[in-house]
Amino acid sequence: MTLHTRAGLEAVPAYRQGRSAPAGASKLSSNESPHAPLPSVVTAVQERLGSIHRYPDMSASALRDDLAARYGVDPSLITVGAGSVELAAQLIHAVAGEGDEVMFAWRSFEAYPSLVRIAGATPVAVPLNAEHAHDLDAMLAAITPRTRAIFVCNPNNPTGTVVTAAELEGFVAAVPHDVLVVIDEAYVHFDRTDSYGAGIELFRRHPHVAVLHTFSKAYGLAGLRIGYAISPLEVAENQRKVAVPFGVTDLAQAAARASLDAEDELAVRIEEVVAQRNRLRDLLIDAGWPAVASQANFVWVPAGERTDELEALLREGGVITRAFPGEGVRISSGSVVDIDRVAAALVREEVSA
Ligand SMILES: *Cc1c(COP(=O)(O)O)cnc(C)c1O
Repeated sequence: MTLHTRAGLEAVPAYRQGRSAPAGASKLSSNESPHAPLPSVVTAVQERLGSIHRYPDMSASALRDDLAARYGVDPSLITVGAGSVELAAQLIHAVAGEGDEVMFAWRSFEAYPSLVRIAGATPVAVPLNAEHAHDLDAMLAAITPRTRAIFVCNPNNPTGTVVTAAELEGFVAAVPHDVLVVIDEAYVHFDRTDSYGAGIELFRRHPHVAVLHTFSKAYGLAGLRIGYAISPLEVAENQRKVAVPFGVTDLAQAAARASLDAEDELAVRIEEVVAQRNRLRDLLIDAGWPAVASQANFVWVPAGERTDELEALLREGGVITRAFPGEGVRISSGSVVDIDRVAAALVREEVSA
């Protein structure tokens, strides 16, 4: 006899983690910070280790108060989760169910389609435009009476493109106010255009906007799993119902608070990552690869049929990347040493060609 399992999950791919790197190789496959945690953050976590026999504060009240003060919003509008991917799931479950549609651009964050299907809703993927950016007009045209949420990943993963603050404003204003627009700003700290921070401003001015932020990328806490959302009250209340209880550890909350206190130090690191990202793109262009200008901590190379070739070339040079077969390669911005390796690998090809 075969065990009964949930019907429909055959269509849901399991989340695929960025390739792990062999010892000594550069892991540029998951958009993590190349920097070790800040000493002040390590100390904050160590100070809490003696309390791990207790459940964490499920409401993360101290962290939410810090964030509420920083953004000037009521703490009731802030929710935390085990990474912003959990918050994306919460937001979907908060507004959509069987028969509803949730829209996103494609290609975008790989988790979106699965999260939508797991909620029983229908994913609506709207192709990116020729510049590898969100096609906001096409997204508006794809809204139906069943649309419950629209994700705008800004900057977009994996292409690194942004929509401007004005484009985003026009889009949000044109979306019916009973449809939630989720602005996923996982990479906002690396954005050097006017769309930096646009999500929070839109949240303030419109009743149907939620913003997603994570501590995994710019703050360097990917291993601790913590992020937050700022959402309209009725959405935030539903999120608290669908959240897995005690999903965010006390250690993660302490690390997040210490990171908010260390932003000047983190800003220096973020500038390094931005500089290496720009250098990485220039190196790829110089070597003849069609690298897209990026506002995130990675560079997208829509290599098409040459995707495997580029992935293998870099792997042989000790650089592990994220390849999307037939589409392209996403290379995270690493340390100077990591990008030196990319440079060496690309030059080696020119010599052998
Ligand atoms: C990495 C990423 C996230 C979330 O990461 P967490 O580690 O779960 O916080 C969310 N959205 C996008 C677009 C990402 O690339």
